[in-house]
Amino acid sequence: MSVYSYEHPLIGKVTYVTDHNPPLYGDTISFINGFEPSSQLAVVHIPQLVGKANSESNLYFHIKAHRQLQTAFAEIEKQGLLDIITQCNSVFKMRLRRPTSGYFSSLPSNHAFGLALDINQNDGEGGVSCAPLAPVFQYYGFTWGKTFSMAPDATHFEIKKFL
Ligand SMILES: [Zn+2]
Repeated sequence: MSVYSYEHPLIGKVTYVTDHNPPLYGDTISFINGFEPSSQLAVVHIPQLVGKANSESNLYFHIKAHRQLQTAFAEIEKQGLLDIITQCNSVFKMRLRRPTSGYFSSLPSNHAFGLALDINQNDGEGGVSCAPLAPVFQYYGFTWGKTFSMAPDATHFEIKKFL
């Protein structure tokens, strides 16, 4: 295993180890300091995802972001955009980032903090079909992965600030 530290803008300083040495691309990690998933994450129910194919309606997500996540999905429904979502799962995963460039990153993914979700990974075009949802998520404090300068990821939404 390899040990890393990282100052997360919302979580603070965390220390973590990778499963492998040398670490693999997207390697599984365990936190040894600064973050305890079970004390900061909990299941949040998203009624708009109930019965939707390829999706889970109970998401294990950071407690401080539950309300803005629920509000964003309610707004997506209100705007008639729900049918755009064809897949929403794999929210919480303790792993390193997986830059779409394929380059190795030693930084922890925001999925490891319950701060990110991926939508429409199954659309065959890298999540570009999410575009109409992006303004809603951005309004409620998320960053859209397509705007990442280094390795854009249109399937990915992550919390930029707690509202
Ligand atoms: Zn993601």
